[in-house]
Amino acid sequence: MRPFDYLEPETLDEALVRLADDPDDAVVMAGGTSLVILMKQDLIRPARVIGLRRIGELRAIGTPEGNLSLGALATHGALARSQPVRAHAAALASTFAAVATVRIREQATLGGNLAHADPAQDPPVTLLALDGVAVARSRFGERRIPLDALFADLFETSLEPGEILLRVELPPLPAGARATYQKFLPRTLDDYATVSVAAVVATDASGVCTHARIALGGAGPVPLRAREAERSLVGHRLEDAAIRGAAALAAAATDPIADLRGSAAYKRAMAGVWTERALREVA
Ligand SMILES: Cc1cc2nc3c(=O)[nH]c(=O)nc-3n(C[C@H](O)[C@H](O)[C@H](O)COP(=O)(O)OP(=O)(O)OC[C@H]3O[C@@H](n4cnc5c(N)ncnc54)[C@H](O)[C@@H]3O)c2cc1C
Repeated sequence: MRPFDYLEPETLDEALVRLADDPDDAVVMAGGTSLVILMKQDLIRPARVIGLRRIGELRAIGTPEGNLSLGALATHGALARSQPVRAHAAALASTFAAVATVRIREQATLGGNLAHADPAQDPPVTLLALDGVAVARSRFGERRIPLDALFADLFETSLEPGEILLRVELPPLPAGARATYQKFLPRTLDDYATVSVAAVVATDASGVCTHARIALGGAGPVPLRAREAERSLVGHRLEDAAIRGAAALAAAATDPIADLRGSAAYKRAMAGVWTERALREVA
């Protein structure tokens, strides 16, 4: 690993100033679980690393203004155990519990996960289906970024140099909404997903679907929403034909990358199978 300066600011303002001093050659570090690997492999060579771990306000999880707010520095483990997270959607807590192993979950953070932008990661999928909005700040101000605009490409986000992710906000769910997260793990339980699916639906008193969100991981260069599949469900009862039709549309919306977890065709087929399972569960 190349030598670098390491700073640990006590406040967010100080971190933003330090980052703004040298935005192209400085990186922030949260849990370090991805960043340190990239530095050891010489894939990134920052001159300055700004550790965020002393900035306690970034760890907060709660519902300050009705929205559920998840601090960027909250670990996957803390999020999986959090009562406000469970109260919002049990599927969200189980998504965080599905990340890697206990060792990674207690070290790695939500903000690091989103900024790393690996399309096979778990939390982005459920957060997309829950209409999550990321909040980022630079020295020049704060910006709200809907999650589907945050993920720009493989391992690339729309964060600007000098911006730090502060939190993700989730609006309240429609009354009676049901959510699930399905992670297809054919190899080992602590692996990244081959594909994963989050589904959120709500129905009216007669069983007609009034709200549908379907998001997929491992199914393209970025975690994605299957919008056509969502539209096909709204206004219909969640019966067999509607579910099978939506699963086929979700599979068609994927653009998987072949890798050691399977060919593109296999992942596309599995995206259909796991969307169907997810929809049957929430139906
Ligand atoms: C062995 C292993 C297995 C894994 N398995 C899974 C898995 O099954 N599912 C899954 O979802 N993930 C998995 N991961 C990924 C893991 O979740 C991420 O490594 C982690 O969330 C990154 O968080 P971190 O706090 O360690 O980030 P870091 O490594 O500190 O940072 C990662 C990137 O994010 C940037 N960053 C960090 N915090 C912020 C912020 N607040 N604002 C802006 N940029 C920021 C850093 O500059 C860096 O570019 C695995 C990782 C490892 C090492």
